[in-house]
Amino acid sequence: MIPSILPTYNRAPIAFTHGEGAWLTAEDGSRYLDFGAGIAVNALGHANPELVEALTAQARKLWHVSNLYEIPEQKRLADLLVEHTFADTAFFTNSGTEACELAVKMARKYWSESDAPRHRIVAFEGSFHGRSSAGIAAAGSEKMTKGFGPLLPGFTHLRWGDHDALEAALDDSVAAVIVEPVQGEGGIRPMPDACLKGLRELCDRHGILLIFDEVQCGMGRTGRLFAHEWADVAPDIMMIAKGIGGGFPLGAVLASEKAAAPMSAGSHGSTYGGNPLACAVGARVMEIMTAPDFLPDLRRRAANLRQSLEGLVATHPDIFDHVRGTGLMLGLKCRVPAGDFVKAGYGEHLLTVPAADNVVRLLPPLNISESDIEEALRRLDAAARALEAA
Ligand SMILES: *Cc1c(COP(=O)(O)O)cnc(C)c1O
Repeated sequence: MIPSILPTYNRAPIAFTHGEGAWLTAEDGSRYLDFGAGIAVNALGHANPELVEALTAQARKLWHVSNLYEIPEQKRLADLLVEHTFADTAFFTNSGTEACELAVKMARKYWSESDAPRHRIVAFEGSFHGRSSAGIAAAGSEKMTKGFGPLLPGFTHLRWGDHDALEAALDDSVAAVIVEPVQGEGGIRPMPDACLKGLRELCDRHGILLIFDEVQCGMGRTGRLFAHEWADVAPDIMMIAKGIGGGFPLGAVLASEKAAAPMSAGSHGSTYGGNPLACAVGARVMEIMTAPDFLPDLRRRAANLRQSLEGLVATHPDIFDHVRGTGLMLGLKCRVPAGDFVKAGYGEHLLTVPAADNVVRLLPPLNISESDIEEALRRLDAAARALEAA
């Protein structure tokens, strides 16, 4: 008999009742150290007092009014995002997937108004852009698309790191390129800065719109507010979600005025997108992350973690191959099945997240303390030893 919850997930048999910072408490009262943060969502930890205050203060006033009216909380968050990014404008969604839908629509709308319309979108193998029709067409993997055809047409997929294929594929028939500056689900695969720069140049040469999907790698995760800042290049359109809501469902598409210009009244909409609750939380997240010490302090802790992980890998050469990633978006490439290591982590009451390419993701809350990092390292070591003994 089919369960009451559609069984599209293989869930670990653990249920949590509450959380605080980087810690979650399970139904049996035991505590787990959370190095997954709900897949990079709880960027400021569980039950963050400032976010609880922002949410509850707003909840007492107003939850929902619809985009038929002005929403001051939405305007405030949009202003913060415009102030701190390349973008001139923002549209709010409830998820990364919805942001993908709009990013694709916006790119196509832009070209539909041109003298020489284009609709083709170039994407990359191993990418993840959500599970909607546009999202799975953009990712293109067998795993995500099988049985869901006919797929949204117009997507081309290139091998990650294949410069020649990229150069050959980008011409004056391409409307947009969509890429994660650091692939998350794909196994913490950063696109090197030089490649992001080269990609921007190729797009400029052919008038192609560049879409960055920073749903996972954005919002401070790599140690800059957005991952592309490391390469000093800007997209035309950017998808964000996950960390921006700190656990409350919230996403957005940020865009330059040029890319967004054809999106006139009536061209797109959302019932819940940009509601006062989500935006009150999002604005507080932005205030916290753009405070002067937040990112430098994160980078310092991340560098220490990274160094300790190199040591961990060296100590357990049969378990790990190498460390990859930047900031607090780190991956342990494994020599044992990554899923086995994640399970061993559960045994040590440490939560990590598997990814493709046999990688275990470490995505702790961005404000995690030094002592919690040290505790995680002890538990990673214990999990590795448990696997070695088995
Ligand atoms: C999670 C994710 C998405 C989809 O976001 P949802 O909120 O799950 O819809 C899209 N792109 C990337 C890079 C992601 O990590």
